[in-house]
Amino acid sequence: QRSPLLEVKGNVELKRPLAKAASRLPLSGRRLKRGPDQMEEALEPEKKRTRGLGTRVTTTHPRAAALSSAPQTQGQTAVPKAPRKPAPRCSTAVAPVLKTQKPGPVVPVQKPGTTAAPPMVGGKKPKRPAWDLKGQLCDLNAELKCYRERKQVLDQENQQLRDQLQEAQQQALALGAERKTLEEELTRVRAQAEQGQRELGNLSARVLEQKLGTQEGLVQELQKEQLRLQEERRGLAARLGEQERRLQTSEASLSDSQEEVASLRQEAAAREAVLAEREDRLHGLEMERRRLHNQLQELKGNIRVFCRVRPVLPGESTPSPGFLQFPSGPCGPSDPPTRLSLSRSDERRGTLSGAPAGPTRHEFSFDRVFPPGSGQDEVFEEISMLVQSALDGYPVCIFAYGQTGSGKTFTMEGGPGGDPQMEGLIPRALRHLFSVAQELSGQGWTYSFVASYVEIYNETVRDLLATGTRKGQGGECEIRRAGPGSEELTVTNARYVPVSCEREVEALLHLARQNRAVARTAQNERSSRSHSVFQLQISGEHASRGLQCAAPLSLVDLAGSERLDPGLALGPGERERLRETQAINSSLSTLGLVIMALSNKESHVPYRNSKLTYLLQNSLGGSAKMLMFVNISPLEENVSESLNSLRFASKVNQCVIGTAQANKK
Ligand code: ADP
Ligand code: MG
Repeated sequence: QRSPLLEVKGNVELKRPLAKAASRLPLSGRRLKRGPDQMEEALEPEKKRTRGLGTRVTTTHPRAAALSSAPQTQGQTAVPKAPRKPAPRCSTAVAPVLKTQKPGPVVPVQKPGTTAAPPMVGGKKPKRPAWDLKGQLCDLNAELKCYRERKQVLDQENQQLRDQLQEAQQQALALGAERKTLEEELTRVRAQAEQGQRELGNLSARVLEQKLGTQEGLVQELQKEQLRLQEERRGLAARLGEQERRLQTSEASLSDSQEEVASLRQEAAAREAVLAEREDRLHGLEMERRRLHNQLQELKGNIRVFCRVRPVLPGESTPSPGFLQFPSGPCGPSDPPTRLSLSRSDERRGTLSGAPAGPTRHEFSFDRVFPPGSGQDEVFEEISMLVQSALDGYPVCIFAYGQTGSGKTFTMEGGPGGDPQMEGLIPRALRHLFSVAQELSGQGWTYSFVASYVEIYNETVRDLLATGTRKGQGGECEIRRAGPGSEELTVTNARYVPVSCEREVEALLHLARQNRAVARTAQNERSSRSHSVFQLQISGEHASRGLQCAAPLSLVDLAGSERLDPGLALGPGERERLRETQAINSSLSTLGLVIMALSNKESHVPYRNSKLTYLLQNSLGGSAKMLMFVNISPLEENVSESLNSLRFASKVNQCVIGTAQANKK
């Protein structure tokens, strides 16, 4: 299908030949007024052209006259009559014939005046002589006939052309309408295009506006961000400046500090030198202190005896006034008491008159006497210096001697209930040792402590620190030398527990009490019939000076020193008790004998005579320091046992054991 534009173009092309043809049709009368020759001449090509008629009209012959105004039917109706008639051969008949055969009323094809001239039929036809009028007429008729035929053909052709023209005009009209429509369409389309263009413009403008708006917003945000960043930058720059100032200040102070450090280092080096010197001096002083301390202890006596009288307990009968007296020393009541007098009314002794004799006063003097009101702390204060000697490497042994119930266990372990005020010598001594060891660690000394706690009953040794199945059973314990040729003694099967704080010591004392309690159920009051020996092996080392010291501290709660009345009847229970008592007496008297032998510097010291002295041999004599508490009951009924104890203690007190030697390596 052709586009309307192409159609228009085609039609325009078509129009052109049509217009051309039309322009040729209405010929002027001048040209039509030709002679017969001219007519003939014009006819020839026409003849040729009639064959192609209907397709192209290119002739210039005078037929437009008929085309222009004469109706087609007129020509057609007029023409057929003539050819059918035989052409008149006379020339006179020509004019009327021509008149009647006029194709249309508008333009005459020929004027009658021109018929006089002989027709020109090419150059070949011979010209008739003038007289041959008939011949001439004949020719003219023939010629007329020809023309008529010709006219008919032309009329047909004309008609066809008219049809074509009409058709073409219609076509042109249609095309014009179409063109108009198309032009309108074009205009509309153009308008639309313009509209579209405008809209597009608007749209793009809007889009651009929006974009612009967004961009502007973005720009604003960016500007804000930039402002913020600038602000931040300013802040940072300020901070940087501040930091730089600080850095400069710090650097300045650093260099100051470095100088200071350098000078301080010099000072420190100088001080270190001084410190080292002082340390040397301190060490020298410490050694001097130990020497003087020892001298003091020696001056006090390597064996000392303290007498402690326990208070009257609730429910006990108060002794008569003056039964026990504590005379003050030479410097008056401010002097710590060292003397004790005990009065005893002897019923057996009578005067000559028969009246009862007055009470006899027994005076005793010891290194220190503690009346009933003396507290545990007061007692410990007096022995703390002695305990300190153990840290200096001197063996120390503290005994509690006395009859059952006189306060030995109270003095050694403490009172019941765990009251800190009632704490005995063992916990106090260990606490003191730990604290002094801590102090000495500042001078380079390192101490270690190992505790053991055994019981000697009827010459058998039992571990009071036994745990588990051995608890309270008193397994086979033997006293042996630690090694061949070794002076050190050890109890086999007994636990030796390293201790470093009070809590551990407390736990051990608690365990020992439990073990004794178990034993008590088996045998009545065995604890008072046995010696309890708490031993602490103290080892000290001054690594930098290559010094070492080691010594045992022994705290012994002796068995009750009371004797059995020999006059009493002996039942089976008493016999056992007698055996116990004999063992106790034997070991206590051996202790006395050992002390005597040491005092008299005898060659043989009977350590082996009892398990107690055998176990304590390293803590007695020679380099050892010994302290004996003689515990006294304040009751009058115990006066006899008290006197026995005091007498034993006095004997011990009179002993002077040779100068003690510290176990130093
Ligand atoms: P021992 O061990 O010599 O047989 P104890 O130490 O068991 O004697 O003392 C007997 C009783 O006397 C205990 O109840 C004890 O608490 C008490 N006792 C002993 N000495 C004192 C004292 N100095 N102060 C208060 N009570 C004491
Ligand atoms: Mg006791």
